[in-house]
Amino acid sequence: MTTTAVQLADIVVPGPFSGPLSYRIPVDLSVVVGARCQVPLRNKIVVGIVVEVRSASNDDKLDKLKPIDTVLDATPLLDASLLDVAQWMSRYYLYDAASAYLLALPTLLRNGESAELIREARVELTIAGEHLEASQLKGKRQSEALLWLQTHGAATPSELRRHGIDRPHWRGLIDKRLAHEVALSVEPRAPTGQLRQSPLTLNDEQQSALLKLHDDAFNVLLLEGVTGSGKTEVYLQAMARTLAAGKRVLVLVPEIGLTPQTLERFQQRFADELVALHSGLTDKERHNAWLQAQHGEAAIVVGTRSAVLTPLPDLGLIVIDEEHDASFKQQDTLRYHARDVAIFRARQADIPVILGSATPSLESLHNARNGRYQHAELKQRAAGRARPQLETIDMRRQQHEHGISERLRYRIADHLAQGQQVLLFLNRRGYAPSWFCSACGWMADCPFCDARLTYHRGRHQTICHHCGYQSRPETTCPDCGSHELMPLGAGTERAEEALEQWFPQIPIIRFDRDAITTADALNRQLERTREAGPAILVGTQMLAKGHHFENVTLVGILDLDAGLFSADFRSRERTGQLLVQVAGRAGRGDAAGEVLLQSWHPDHPFFEPLLQQDYPRFSDQLLRERQPAGLPPFGFLACLRADSAYPQQAENRLAEMADFLLQHPGIRVFGPLPAILSRRAGKHRFVLVVQSDKRSQLHAALEPLVRHYPRQQRALSWHLDIDPLETL
Ligand code: ADP
Ligand code: ZN
Ligand code: ZN
Repeated sequence: MTTTAVQLADIVVPGPFSGPLSYRIPVDLSVVVGARCQVPLRNKIVVGIVVEVRSASNDDKLDKLKPIDTVLDATPLLDASLLDVAQWMSRYYLYDAASAYLLALPTLLRNGESAELIREARVELTIAGEHLEASQLKGKRQSEALLWLQTHGAATPSELRRHGIDRPHWRGLIDKRLAHEVALSVEPRAPTGQLRQSPLTLNDEQQSALLKLHDDAFNVLLLEGVTGSGKTEVYLQAMARTLAAGKRVLVLVPEIGLTPQTLERFQQRFADELVALHSGLTDKERHNAWLQAQHGEAAIVVGTRSAVLTPLPDLGLIVIDEEHDASFKQQDTLRYHARDVAIFRARQADIPVILGSATPSLESLHNARNGRYQHAELKQRAAGRARPQLETIDMRRQQHEHGISERLRYRIADHLAQGQQVLLFLNRRGYAPSWFCSACGWMADCPFCDARLTYHRGRHQTICHHCGYQSRPETTCPDCGSHELMPLGAGTERAEEALEQWFPQIPIIRFDRDAITTADALNRQLERTREAGPAILVGTQMLAKGHHFENVTLVGILDLDAGLFSADFRSRERTGQLLVQVAGRAGRGDAAGEVLLQSWHPDHPFFEPLLQQDYPRFSDQLLRERQPAGLPPFGFLACLRADSAYPQQAENRLAEMADFLLQHPGIRVFGPLPAILSRRAGKHRFVLVVQSDKRSQLHAALEPLVRHYPRQQRALSWHLDIDPLETL
């Protein structure tokens, strides 16, 4: 038997396979590594990615191998180093190979769409348009469109639409010969590092931070700097160095941080092309942005979590802003952490990484201490601004109404009277966290979860925030028949309502997932905030991150107490980070800031270093607590979670898994225990926490487990979470 001429391709295909499958390459097809092919799988034709091309060996069962159906790409879409990253992800997170590889591709490419760039023409002003005073145009919307183009330069119709400029408005400009459409033909071009705007003169701390980053090899710089200390300026100057050397830059930001404000800061600085990749794009926009990056037309990619796998020729630097942010961790299917994947990618590519945060994760701080990362601290606010004053309000000694204490209310009035803006943070959306019978104490529960229903006044509904179940609020108590039913506790909607009554002249601008469902809506609220005079912003987490509120001088934190008593090992780290981040929104403009924290436990030692605004001491304290317990970053964790309609089944499966794991050296297990929210959407969840002092031992035990147990078996399903953010 001779098999000399038979060529095979190893192809990663969708499905629960831990590696690629082999296919024959028909003689008339040419196949390259990193390209997509359509191949038969069971009775279907699916899209896969070629990871190896080779001659058949004696081990290949040639008669069983099917031929490739179609080759979709003549050239590779993913280069060898990205293929390595994807392979690493599937091994590290112990998940299907295909999920990792396909994660690198935008949806349309995953579905087999052509990798041709569909180019949109740009609308560009003519010389007449450049020079016309916008107010001379009659139509209001047309004059706004003109002004926008005069300040921002040419843009595609979809960019214009995103800024609220619709087709008829720019069409009108074209009819008046104030603008014309310019077809795009963009060629790959090397980054230049040319600046549109001169850089700021770095202060000493910024300068020494920049000196700690080495351009030509893998190294990680942890840039710890209080909010407003000028971290972004350090990123910009590091990026300028990279671009000037002809290399490209990938910037990752948290979900909520990718606003036009953020993008503008990069665009205003660099002449080089920038593309943004985030969840607000349509499939087609994402497809195009991704291909522009892949072709080398973009010098800078700014994106959220999944952008970590964007192909960029000559990648020279990765920047991760707010590296501690939980949105970098994917919480379903392939549960990867974009920061950790980025660091692996940088190591493969032998390039530097900057991790920036005012509140670095304990993992990164630990790496900085043991010398694996460089560590630079920016302790002063840039531009000489004072740091805000932080104080607690003892709720035990205060009158309060709708969750807002008298003292806070006076301070709000004071700041408003001085023409300032106020930000109130409350991590609970809806009107009230429960619907309650004042006669007997009954509270409305979700019929499908172990959770209370939240009352939403705007819709007059009780809603489960865990499974989405909605109902009309009961008017008669099912337990005692009383009609004295009412909302209990306060959420953002209630705070908003109270504030409207107390400050009828003042705009109240709400930021939460009910008020803001799209990126556009977020931008509108940010815009409203910028344009308003005295105003109150009320919101959840959404307010904590990255936004620059020039006129906010008072921040009120209504309630963070829950974070003190949660059983989750990261809860205090997260609560502390949240406090620092929210507090950091105060006084970013010219006036000094004030931060007031309402608490029922104002003397809790947890708050002490935070009130001193000493995050380094706070994180030291947490690290010291974690070390003896072998918790991350000193030990390594994985979480197994099982869901079933029958609680016993979920618990038994995890108990079996515990026995399986304990046969391996160096493994400790905790549980199985019912999850904190043990019933959600009608299923019961149990959790098993697996711990080891050595990462290699953890993987050695989990790898055979993943192969041994099917993920889904009748009523039961389970998943594995490596390096979990939560263990509950
Ligand atoms: P961070 O990213 O740490 O929150 P920014 O980079 O946004 O901080 O800086 C906060 C403000 O200080 C910005 O308005 C920025 O322009 C200004 N700034 C930063 N660095 C300097 C500097 N070296 N000199 C003067 N102003 C600076
Ligand atoms: Zn009752
Ligand atoms: Zn529910």
